[in-house]
Amino acid sequence: MKILFLGPPGVGKGTQAVRVAEALEIPHISTGEMFREHMDSATGLGKQISRIVARGDLVPDSLTVAMLLERLGHSDTANGYILDGFPRNLPQAHALDEAIGEAALDAVVVLQAEFDMLKERLLNRGRADDTEESVSNRLVVYERETAPLVRFYEDRGVTAGVNGVGSVEEITANILAALARFRP
Ligand code: ADP
Repeated sequence: MKILFLGPPGVGKGTQAVRVAEALEIPHISTGEMFREHMDSATGLGKQISRIVARGDLVPDSLTVAMLLERLGHSDTANGYILDGFPRNLPQAHALDEAIGEAALDAVVVLQAEFDMLKERLLNRGRADDTEESVSNRLVVYERETAPLVRFYEDRGVTAGVNGVGSVEEITANILAALARFRP
């Protein structure tokens, strides 16, 4: 199954995406993680994006789309994948449609939580880009750029809303139950 995880920073997308990918035996593809790997090994791309990521702004679509489409070309995606962090705005969603078509996504899991809780969780997480300024900016960027994707995919009838508050195990079970309604 081809699945997108949508939701604000701090909602637990990454944690849940890893668990669900394991349960369904499909790769977990996180653009944030891919960017962090590039920055850690100081590749050309890594150097180009480090200031953008530190601020909590979006990496330019051209770089992000090229990196993601290259990854989707690997043979391990034949039985599906979980996309975590891409698409993150409408232009990226359109780019995915143009490259692969609507078949690129069978289901979209929308993880939900209150904004106050997100900020607290992010500031306690302690990743390099989890500074007060970057966190506040990422939440603003999410509302402006990413939240419109919920409507975009709702109109296609492929979304499933799941509460992101609860135990990690409970939330994974709820996501898997919600996904059972969709056919690959
Ligand atoms: P979070 O869930 O905390 O936002 P991510 O790991 O998903 O963390 O993303 C970290 C950073 O990587 C983002 O703040 C952004 O700078 C960059 N990034 C990740 N995915 C994308 C994307 N699809 N488009 C542009 N930038 C992205």
